[in-house]
Amino acid sequence: MINPNMRLFVFLAALLFSAVSFGQDFKKKISIDALNAFVEEDINNLKSDEAINSVDIKASHWDTKIYNPYKHEKVTFPIEIKFEDSSYVSPIPIRKVITSRFGWRRGRAHKGIDIDLVTGDSVRSMFDGIVRFAKYSPGHGRTVVVRHYNGLETVYAHLSKYAVKANDTVKAGDLLGKGGASGNARGSHLHLVINYKGISINPEYLFDFGEENKIRSKTIWVTDNWVRPEVHNSKRRTKLQLLHTEEEAIASLETRKQIYIVKRGDTLSRISHRNNVSIASICKSNYIKRTTPIKIGQRLVLEYVF
Ligand SMILES: [Zn+2]
Repeated sequence: MINPNMRLFVFLAALLFSAVSFGQDFKKKISIDALNAFVEEDINNLKSDEAINSVDIKASHWDTKIYNPYKHEKVTFPIEIKFEDSSYVSPIPIRKVITSRFGWRRGRAHKGIDIDLVTGDSVRSMFDGIVRFAKYSPGHGRTVVVRHYNGLETVYAHLSKYAVKANDTVKAGDLLGKGGASGNARGSHLHLVINYKGISINPEYLFDFGEENKIRSKTIWVTDNWVRPEVHNSKRRTKLQLLHTEEEAIASLETRKQIYIVKRGDTLSRISHRNNVSIASICKSNYIKRTTPIKIGQRLVLEYVF
């Protein structure tokens, strides 16, 4: 309850305030409506700022000249990746045919996934983000890198044409360029890489490349097993064991994979004996039989359970 004296005081104060304001600027008419509009605009700005810029993805390691600006960044595993949605936008307009997976290939690391396309097919951004790099890169050819609000970067390589430039803001599904075979490509395809702070994650661990464009989970924990091409095979899909919590991720690290290069005079039993891994385990993790001959220089996966 406000008593009449108080009401009079408020009225006089308001009158005095408007007189002062009016005196300061004749031309400026202060109306309640205009004031309300100002306040509303401020609130809207605040809302959109909160939603879009809750993470300032350009704040650090923003370099539009080099492919990997995270070279000296140390990443500790497991890392948590979060998604706002349960699906992504397909980077290509046709059914996705995977011609080569993340993994070891012809004695080298293949750090992305190859998806078949015809030169000129549209290549689109999988998520909202900002183009960090749109430039020719050795091997990758014409390449677009989009940084997203969850910290991931998606890389679209071997393009024939660009539709964006560095610092462009893109929405999921926006055209980035046209597919092709630029750089070191055997035929036209999209070489898609998923990076976190410069480290390439096996894309199939995060995404299902089927028709429904599903993200495996809104929260995914990535262990170093999913970023090491040498423990994956580019011709075979790695058995998926999704880690939803930090506890699961830490528990899974208790199984470690190591690579052993076969030396002169080695046999499965000698490798087994010297490395404390059973022959059955070597056969299982390398998809071979006890009778399969091994060659000098061959790379074997040894799986340790601690
Ligand atoms: Zn590739």
